[in-house]
Amino acid sequence: MRIAVLSDIHANLPALDAVLADAGQVDAIWHLGDVVGYGPDPDGVVARLRDVGAIGVRGNHDAAACGGTEIDWFNADARRAMEWTRTAIGGRSIEWLSALPERRTIDGCELVHGSPRDPLWEYILSPSIARDNLAVLGQPIGLHGHTHIPVAYVEDDGRVDRVAPRRGTELGLEGHRALVNPGSVGQPRDGDTSASYLILDPAAGSMTWHRVEYDIGAVQAAMRDAGLPGFLISRLSIGL
Ligand code: ZN
Repeated sequence: MRIAVLSDIHANLPALDAVLADAGQVDAIWHLGDVVGYGPDPDGVVARLRDVGAIGVRGNHDAAACGGTEIDWFNADARRAMEWTRTAIGGRSIEWLSALPERRTIDGCELVHGSPRDPLWEYILSPSIARDNLAVLGQPIGLHGHTHIPVAYVEDDGRVDRVAPRRGTELGLEGHRALVNPGSVGQPRDGDTSASYLILDPAAGSMTWHRVEYDIGAVQAAMRDAGLPGFLISRLSIGL
């Protein structure tokens, strides 16, 4: 089984298309939320995910785009971008986003945006946060996004080991439970500007992280045309 796991696409269609082309033939496409927000093409990204039959979960930005009070917790730039998203997004996209559950279990994997114990909001940023979440994880593998940083936290004899993957890193779980983050497709924050995603074989417990270049300038031009905040535009050039 080759499953492409994508997260935090954030309305960045050139990045999503580059990832889909790079992944090639896969058995399924799973996404971990934040399909929209920040970026300039919410409808394009939702339409593409719908066309390729992607299944996944809701992120905090998706909930806010559907009118949720999550927007009250956003910083100033995220809020401005979300206000723009709400005016730009179409009814069909809202319908698709509204139908996303907060968590989903498939093939021994639990899919969430933030964390198993707080699917919309918690950032898994340390082995100790990961340990608390592994304790409530009901499946062998937990897939999450939200931090925009590729990482795996692997349980081993009561210890939790942090794996910081680079481009092309392969990991075999060998029966250990783990929380795994594919990184962000549309707004990477680990210092690498290229789109990040994961190819996963859930039954084998094996995975590979991939990075793909995309046309960052085209996305930034579309963001300028939409009047989106300058920091959100410039951060794509530095990957932070
Ligand atoms: Zn996000």
